[in-house]
Amino acid sequence: MARIRTSSIKAVIAAKCPKCRVGKMFVGNTYSFRKQRMNDVCPHCGFRFEIEPGYFYAAMYVSYAMAVLEVIAVAWLTYEITESESPWLYFGVLIAAILLFSPFNYRYSRLILLHYLTPKVKYNPKYEDLLAEEEDAKN
Ligand SMILES: [Zn+2]
Repeated sequence: MARIRTSSIKAVIAAKCPKCRVGKMFVGNTYSFRKQRMNDVCPHCGFRFEIEPGYFYAAMYVSYAMAVLEVIAVAWLTYEITESESPWLYFGVLIAAILLFSPFNYRYSRLILLHYLTPKVKYNPKYEDLLAEEEDAKN
């Protein structure tokens, strides 16, 4: 029987459920014209993503840390490229960067919180094993 083991980093990048690493946590892409929507429960294993009411408030801290790192990186790059000291250039570039990164931060702060910062949420390989068994049964 073929065993599938999705690594946690792959599951985070693909925005998969922290428990089964099969079901998608979000509807649609990170960058689309429609507002991002998160599934309430995993479409594959039924895991409720918001494990307690207000749980995703904690994701704001993760999102804040991500934004700080992004702003530092973008400011440094702007300096390296332009060597400008105009505060207006940095102001404009950083506002644009914050807006551009915000859908990404929204999605990945929640993923990082559930995958890495919530010890009680554990990956259970049985879901991927079940999937592999179903695949084997078909062939
Ligand atoms: Zn799941």
